Amino acid sequence: MKVLFVSSEVFPLIKTGGLADVSGSLPNALQGLGVDIRILVPGYPAVLENIGALKTVAELDHLPHIGDATLLEGVIQDTQVKVWVIKAPSLYERDGGPYADKTGLEWGDNPIRFGVLSKVAAILASEKTPIKSWLPDIVHCNDWQTGLAPAYMSLTEHSNAKSIISLHNMAFQGCYPPNWVESLGLPSSGFSIEGFEYHGQLSFLKAAIFYADAISTVSPRYAKEIQTAAFGFGLEGLLSKRGDEIKGILNGIETEEWNPATDKYLSHTYNSENLQGKLQVKLALQRDSGLDIDANAPLLGVVSRLTHQKGLDMLVPHLQFLINQGCQFVLLGGGELAMEKAFEEIASRNPGRASVTIGYNEPLSHQIMAGSDIFVMPSRFEPCGLNQLYGLAYGTPPVVNATGGLADSVIDSNPAHLKDKTANGFVMVEASAEGLVACILRAVNMFNHDKKTWLQIQMSGMQQNLSWDKSAQEYLALYKTLL
Ligand code: ADP
Repeated sequence: MKVLFVSSEVFPLIKTGGLADVSGSLPNALQGLGVDIRILVPGYPAVLENIGALKTVAELDHLPHIGDATLLEGVIQDTQVKVWVIKAPSLYERDGGPYADKTGLEWGDNPIRFGVLSKVAAILASEKTPIKSWLPDIVHCNDWQTGLAPAYMSLTEHSNAKSIISLHNMAFQGCYPPNWVESLGLPSSGFSIEGFEYHGQLSFLKAAIFYADAISTVSPRYAKEIQTAAFGFGLEGLLSKRGDEIKGILNGIETEEWNPATDKYLSHTYNSENLQGKLQVKLALQRDSGLDIDANAPLLGVVSRLTHQKGLDMLVPHLQFLINQGCQFVLLGGGELAMEKAFEEIASRNPGRASVTIGYNEPLSHQIMAGSDIFVMPSRFEPCGLNQLYGLAYGTPPVVNATGGLADSVIDSNPAHLKDKTANGFVMVEASAEGLVACILRAVNMFNHDKKTWLQIQMSGMQQNLSWDKSAQEYLALYKTLL
């Protein structure tokens, strides 16, 4: 089975969030199951720098706006997974991030940048492909950036391959003014409610949901949630029409990368049989973050985008109270200015008790995951979420809101779940600042006063199989239903 896996970010080449982690690890797991897979990704500077040796495999022509581009092939380091990189300097080779410039302003030509990504995927899956020896059976698209691929496949390239759209986050849809329809080479007949039109705009994500042969999301709970107005971001009607077809498959984690027993970013490693190393990592984290060295202080950790979705604004009102109760706090993240400022202000008021790092820092994210005692993730919605899974694997029980993949992966430490030994974290009863502080206090109380139960909760998470094995099997089964 040949699968073209299309994504706008792939770890370790380029990452802004969980999509990169999935795109870096799921193809590897699928390849292990015998799937012949290629990842297709834009040639951003980071990709070209990080991938190592590249060879030219094809010239691509008839692309919207830019005419032609070159397809290069490399391999993801430490794997056998082949990556096809679209070399189109005018689109992708510029300073800044994959979606926005350094000041956070979205690139004005994103419709072209991701229209071309989608178009190339569709060409490679059609008779027009310049690579006749490798025609995919499946084109696996991810999020809005790849959303036009199913539309091109069905309307302009007449591909025989089947398409899947995996929805990692409905909040981002790629909606643009209608003039883009013609300039991206899409037929105007598709600009209707039965097509890629969404309230007078061209919607990349709607195109995918409408034209793809299959739809998946990254957790079973989110598959249900997106069919409701609260989580569907306006596409709940279309999604519920295809409701029975939407498959929810919980993400796994890359256990080579996220494993406390081998983690290269930690001063000490550890495993479920010996947690000594975890305490050492906590002390190192306290030292390096300017916190008081104190093995007993419950250390609350956060690694997150600071946006409304992640719900961390609900932590702000009661964080001082939690610190006054003896907690320490360490945060790594960035996003909305007001939230960054609020956390920085708390840190400046609480030297030795709170540490806030604004920015992106891969090593520190691992150190917080391992060195904290409690991981705080009160997302208002969370398609899957990876950080709570990392928390489970690292013996850092997560405090989460009951939504999406958080609800599917975190089992509350209530008396029933403690009794049957399934409890692995703490689930908020109510999505509010009060609900969050109550839930954190429940965790802190147990950490402070019931070490035996705390260890049991840590063990439940650490001993779970969180790897991609099971999820990759489910994707493979989904592919098979299409062929
Ligand atoms: P999302 O993709 O919605 O941001 P996930 O929990 O699915 O959330 O994945 C987030 C990923 O990005 C994790 O691998 C997390 O460790 C990482 N991450 C988030 N913020 C930062 C940061 N400031 N520095 C380093 N890694 C981060």
